[in-house]
Amino acid sequence: MATLYRCLNPKCADDPSGKLGHDFTADVPVCDKCGVDGRDPRFARVVHRLVVLHYDPPSPVEGIGLGHRACDPSKTSRASSDGMQMATGDPESVNCAKCRETGVWKENHRRTEVFEAADFEVIIDPAKKTFGPAPKAG
Ligand SMILES: [Zn+2]
Ligand SMILES: [Zn+2]
Repeated sequence: MATLYRCLNPKCADDPSGKLGHDFTADVPVCDKCGVDGRDPRFARVVHRLVVLHYDPPSPVEGIGLGHRACDPSKTSRASSDGMQMATGDPESVNCAKCRETGVWKENHRRTEVFEAADFEVIIDPAKKTFGPAPKAG
């Protein structure tokens, strides 16, 4: 079964503006960009396994999920015994590529984006490296 890995080689970063890390799905921890093998102890800190976060689609009751993975409804959304497979109701944090291909994920992810764009003014503080919603006026 394919597993999710992250390569921290700066050359492989998906986001050139600074955020380190290139995520890829493979059967073995070998980066598909630089070829570094995480099974080699020298590179164990460079290529490491990520917890797969599946999408737990919402039920008609807000705050309660359906209790299964969007990519495979036969699997429970509870954490796997090794803790490497989990599920979340927050579309943004889902990192399972298959869940992100499902219609239910796309539908709910889009809704989150629209909601955030319409409702929030964000204040970015470069000194503190924080950002958050702007205080309400009045
Ligand atoms: Zn790499
Ligand atoms: Zn999934």
